[in-house]
Amino acid sequence: MKYYTKEVCKTLKIVLIGCSVITIAAVIKYKPVYAVTLSGKTIGYVADKEKTEKKVNNYINDKEGNIAFRIANAMPDYNLVFVSRAQETDEKQVLMAVEDNITTTYEIYAITLDGEKKAEVSSEEDAMQIIEEIKAGANEEIEMKLGIVTEYTNDFTVISKDQALASLNEIKTQKIAAYETKKAEEAKAARIAAQKKAIASTTQVAASGVISGLQLSIPVNGSISSRFGSRSASRSSIHTGLDISTSLGTGIRPIAGGTVTYAGYKGSYGNLIIINHGNGIESYYAHCNELYVGVGANVDAGTTIAAVGSTGNSTGPHLHLEIRVNGTPVNPQQYLY
Ligand SMILES: [Zn+2]
Repeated sequence: MKYYTKEVCKTLKIVLIGCSVITIAAVIKYKPVYAVTLSGKTIGYVADKEKTEKKVNNYINDKEGNIAFRIANAMPDYNLVFVSRAQETDEKQVLMAVEDNITTTYEIYAITLDGEKKAEVSSEEDAMQIIEEIKAGANEEIEMKLGIVTEYTNDFTVISKDQALASLNEIKTQKIAAYETKKAEEAKAARIAAQKKAIASTTQVAASGVISGLQLSIPVNGSISSRFGSRSASRSSIHTGLDISTSLGTGIRPIAGGTVTYAGYKGSYGNLIIINHGNGIESYYAHCNELYVGVGANVDAGTTIAAVGSTGNSTGPHLHLEIRVNGTPVNPQQYLY
């Protein structure tokens, strides 16, 4: 019995020593580490699981700069393993692999004009400053409907404020130019319309050249220097005729055929010819230099009856043409010129 006990003790001793030797050998050769896997794939080894986990979480929760949020596509798994002491841990590489599987979403600010995105900046403050600057120099008539829209992107590059401001300024310049072109075009269109209207009214007068069935023609070519009905400081009464300026001696033809009822000097009219066309229509040709026809002469539209002059109340050579219907002067420009 004593011997048996002794033998057992001896065996146990050997076993214990053996175990110790193996343990010492194992401890010398191997070390415990954490194998990190991502979606089943080993990405490396770390010595301190908690420290690595903390770093990963800090990275995910980071809200620095323009980061809006981060989402991990896969989270790492940690398994305690014994590896050869020669095996180095590589926390840095593990973290890099984990970060590669995390998507970062950034917040940026888009400046809109009439609801359309025109420029992007990194901060809302920059966006507000740009809008203020653009609005400060804008013409009141040119509407700059500017706004700020928050945008989210996974592809972030820092956008310079100056660059955004420059591009918006360019748009503003274009808008101003377009506005000015539009204004100029409108003015041009108005001018053309006015010209067309003037031409149309002239044509209308020329076309109407008929009074009480009597076809009229112009007595002289020239420029209108005073219109019918006008009143100036030098005149005491309303102008009863139309003044047509032209050079001295220009031949005057009657507006239509008729009979000469007056041919001679008559006060402020100077040398005057009056022709009766019938139907109560008479025409007056005043300030003449010379008279070529006498009372009672029958003339037609082709007869030269007098020459332009400046006799009577006149400041320069012109024909004062008067048309009277039943004794009342009418505006010659209703029918001629
Ligand atoms: Zn006159």
